[in-house]
Amino acid sequence: MTIAALPRLTIAALPTPLQPLPRLSAALGGPELWIKRDDLTGLAFGGNKTRKLELLLADAQAAGARTLLTTGAVQSNHCRQTAAAATRFGFECVLVLPGQPPSEAAAWTGNLLLDQLLGAELQWAGQTPREQALTEAFERCLADGRKPYWIPYGGSNALGAAAYAYAVAELSDQAPPFDRVVLATSSGGTQAGLVAGAHLVRYPARISGISVDQAAAAVRRWVAELAGETASLLGHRLHLVPDEVEVFDDYLGAGYGVMGEPEHQAICLFARSEGILLDPVYTGRAAAGLIDLIRRGIIGPKERVLFWHTGGTPALFAYNAALAPQGS
Ligand SMILES: *Cc1c(COP(=O)(O)O)cnc(C)c1O
Repeated sequence: MTIAALPRLTIAALPTPLQPLPRLSAALGGPELWIKRDDLTGLAFGGNKTRKLELLLADAQAAGARTLLTTGAVQSNHCRQTAAAATRFGFECVLVLPGQPPSEAAAWTGNLLLDQLLGAELQWAGQTPREQALTEAFERCLADGRKPYWIPYGGSNALGAAAYAYAVAELSDQAPPFDRVVLATSSGGTQAGLVAGAHLVRYPARISGISVDQAAAAVRRWVAELAGETASLLGHRLHLVPDEVEVFDDYLGAGYGVMGEPEHQAICLFARSEGILLDPVYTGRAAAGLIDLIRRGIIGPKERVLFWHTGGTPALFAYNAALAPQGS
């Protein structure tokens, strides 16, 4: 089946590399492992939001917008990539972040430091809930004649997710099909796009999401719905029930953004076996899940498995205290 071509700006360096992980496979005594390097999308340290932004910014341009508005955590990779993409195409960028600006220079690190270097306007929401703060910021921009364009949390609407349907087509041109794709899932757009794309181009892999912050039932429901909307946008009908979406929520640890021992070990294993850097919030957690699923035999030793690296590495620096050698 062909997928409708949506208007898209060129931001990412595509295709991203597909690489084998022989030393990691050997260390785990397990399946044949490969990695898709969306940490190398080429936009201000890269990541999965770059692909979504190619479609979202084309829409913003077509709508005559002048200011991009979005929200995320203080260490949001989505906000950092949005800020970078905005400058490249001449948009202003407003980022709505929770809490108060840090008062110590040392806390201006990782993605937050980059947001500021990239010239984004940071609006601190204090205790106001995220969606409400974003709505208020949007209305202020509108009233001030700044022609705002609303980019949802994680860039995860059907338009953003569509980028990952295209990414499945890209992958299928790079190598014979994998049995399974493992990725970090949070706002669900990446997984929904991959699921929709796999159906549309008849790519046979199971798409296994490792939830970073939500119960599996909620992620399944949302991904199934968003995959359907994404397929419609691409000119096809797809109706999925939540049970057809695979999500593991066994790795939530102490919650979003709290790096525990499993993430720390996964980061060290990838770094020391393959020279690949993961991040403490998303890919470190997804890799910890991958390692555990292999150890428990849920991922079989004969499978060909692709780990989709979704980026996030600048956040490593915001976790330096937790990652430093013990006793230092
Ligand atoms: C945003 C993000 C994800 C999650 O992608 P969703 O589409 O929000 O599910 C995974 N990894 C990294 C590094 C991210 O920044």
